Order: sequence, then C-alpha cells, then structure tokens
Amino acid sequence: MLVALYENQFVDMTGESSKEQWYSKMRTGMLLCPVCKNKVIPKCGSKKVWHFAHQSQGACAGLHEAETNYHLMGKKSLFHWLMKKEENLYLEHYLRDIAQRPDIYLGEKNHAIEYQCATLNVDMFTSRIYGYQSIGVESDWIFGMKRIKKKRENLYSLQMTDLTAAKRDKTGKLYLNYFCPLQQQFLLLRNILPISQRKVIAEGYTFAAKNLELSMMFDSFNSKSYKYQNLLWNNQKKTWRMTAYKNVSPSIMYVKKVMYFNHRSITLFSPLAGMPSYNYYFIETSPYIWQSYLLFIIDKLSSPFTLQQLENECKRLMVKRIFQERKLPYLNGNYQCAIKGYLNYLESENIIEQINDIHYKKKRPVPYPKTLDEAFEQDKIFSKKAVIFDFV
Ligand SMILES: [Zn+2]
Repeated sequence: MLVALYENQFVDMTGESSKEQWYSKMRTGMLLCPVCKNKVIPKCGSKKVWHFAHQSQGACAGLHEAETNYHLMGKKSLFHWLMKKEENLYLEHYLRDIAQRPDIYLGEKNHAIEYQCATLNVDMFTSRIYGYQSIGVESDWIFGMKRIKKKRENLYSLQMTDLTAAKRDKTGKLYLNYFCPLQQQFLLLRNILPISQRKVIAEGYTFAAKNLELSMMFDSFNSKSYKYQNLLWNNQKKTWRMTAYKNVSPSIMYVKKVMYFNHRSITLFSPLAGMPSYNYYFIETSPYIWQSYLLFIIDKLSSPFTLQQLENECKRLMVKRIFQERKLPYLNGNYQCAIKGYLNYLESENIIEQINDIHYKKKRPVPYPKTLDEAFEQDKIFSKKAVIFDFV
C-alpha cells in the first residue's frame, strides 16, 4: 500500500520524502495502517516502488490482495495523472461502511477507481461493484495492460473476468480501459463484441497518459471499422464451423448430440445462428451454440409458441451448467434479454412474428446449409443483409 497514518495524519509514498525521513518516522512507532491501526514499515528498496507493509502478518480489512510492483507503479502513476485533472483525490481511501478500499477515490464525485492487475473471480468482482453501488459510489475499473493481448487488428484476448467490469457507452456499446505504467499509456477498448470467454472483437485506441482526459475514458469513439468487424465475425463463424466437431465443452457436446439425433450436423448449423444479436453477450456460451439450440427448440414447438417456453428451456440447461450466463453487474440485463434480442433478430429475418405480448408464430422454416461451402456462402449473405453490428 502507498498510504499510512503518521501522528494521525495521512502520509503517502507519492511525494518526495527520503528513505531516512521514512525510517525516522517508523522509529517513533507512530507509522500505522490507516485501516487496522497496526504498525507498518516503509519499504524503500530499489526493486519495487516504495510502499508500506504491515510489520506482522495478520488479517487487515483494507488488504484484498498482494500488490505487485506493476500494480503499485500503476496506482501511483494513475494518481499523479489524475492529480493534474481533479481535486479532492484520495489514494487508498478506506470506505469503512463496506470495508472496501478503492485505489483512487474522487471525493467530490463519489467515484471510486480501481486499478486491477491481480486475478479476481467473478463473484469477488460483482460483490465489490455491488458494494460501491450500495453506498451510492460510482465505480470504474482500469486494468493492467498485462492482462490483455492483441491477437491481430481488432481482435484481443482478455483475462477471463475482465468483461465483468464492462460498461456501456452512450451509444450502448461495451467498453473497457487498460493502463500500462511502464509506458505511461492507456488502451481504450471500444465497441467490444465478446466471441468467447476471453476473446473479443474490439477497437483499441492508444493514448499517452499526458494526452488523455478523464472524460474520454468513459466515452464512445466513432466506429470506423464496421466492415472489419463484420469480416472478423465471419472468420469466427468459419472457425466455429471448422472446430465444432472436435470441441468437447459441455454445451457443444450437448447441442451436437441433440442435432445428431435429429439428423443434423453441428458443422452445418443454420446461418441464422452465431449472430451478435442485441444483448447476445448476456449468455456466455458461444452464440452459435445457444442460438442453434433455440432454433432447434422453435422447430419442435408448435406455433404459436411463447418466449417463456424458450426461457424455461435455457434456464433448464443453465441449472445443469450446460449453458452459462454472463454476469455483467454494470449492465441492466440477464440471459432473458439475450433470448429476447435473438427473437427480435429472427423476426427481422421473417422466420417468426410476434403476434401479441406473449406469443410468436412461425412464418417460414429455418434455413440449413447442405455443405460447408454453402454454409460459408450463406454466412456472408446473412451477415451483410442483417447489418449485424447495428444490433449491439
Ligand atoms: Zn492494516
């Protein structure tokens, strides 16, 4: 940590104090952890960013995880960066009511900023986000750049849980932010389309810290790469078709089996499945899998059918852990929104029609390709026709 108490005043490691000054403060025995009030020692070495550590190991409510040098460096840099822009800035401010200690806290705006480098599971993430919400504090996460890898233009691989912190910009598209303290650089990820647990199609905008305003971090950028996203999405669909037969994940095994018993091959799934329909990302399972399954269910149901019937079927598979919902605590929505969004898409393709609040009727049969070449051809046609990326 970078903050301690000395004679009941907050002191921190972001300034110019010398090693000797810190050690003489420590010798008075008055250098304490602001949260648990136990003694801390200044660590003023040459390998790590100077910081404080508890003198004896013990439970401290203010410590959530061990801090690496990368994290300490990033936190300090972000603090300096924000100091030039904001007033009433607090480093490691302890919010006693919820026992949480955001890396940086903007006092006037009730806004917590977390710099996340360590691995955090979805439940921990969610409970921290809800913690802030419970006391009316806005929160945002900036991730360590080490957590993201660029696979190719507009294609990134993230840590498994990064998407949990995704928010929607004012155009409704998902975004995340990354920061590298070594290069003093931000990477703003915009127009994110998740394609698996870790892989996303997105636009990355790089900024030197000195050129970035705080507000830009939560803003949208004008998308210029619709064609590219469309192309990447189609490539992904191709990959799904080419690899489904050897994929052994529970969801794919299940849907493969269901299709097999109905004389269909998963490789030749309908071109209407695997679409980034509105809200599709609330279901984490690959869209080609859950959408193929819904198409199959719609086929089996008599017409008219209800939204509820499809929801129940999805719910059943989620309880069995065959399908997975994606938790997005900042967004208002759940797997039902994904199903509804997909039905809207099918309606736009004239497959079904909503006849009242509850009922849908089938209008024409779902198309299925007979060969792989035919499938690739249809995928291209449907994605173009649907202007798919307007859905998201
Ligand atoms: Zn403590």
